[in-house]
Amino acid sequence: MAELKALCMKCRTNNKPTMQTMTNPKVTKNDKGRYSAKGTCVVCGGNMFKFMSAVDGEAMM
Ligand SMILES: [Zn+2]
Repeated sequence: MAELKALCMKCRTNNKPTMQTMTNPKVTKNDKGRYSAKGTCVVCGGNMFKFMSAVDGEAMM
């Protein structure tokens, strides 16, 4: 499975969210046809969320 990166709201540097690797991502498609991934931050274990392009979403479903 491709590695996903997303902004983690808990892992901050200079009070800004930083990009971290998302583990165990679950890709879903909402009723507007928009793909998003939910997963866990590999660093802090917090929840992560990321919108995905249709191409990436399809590839990971
Ligand atoms: Zn984190």
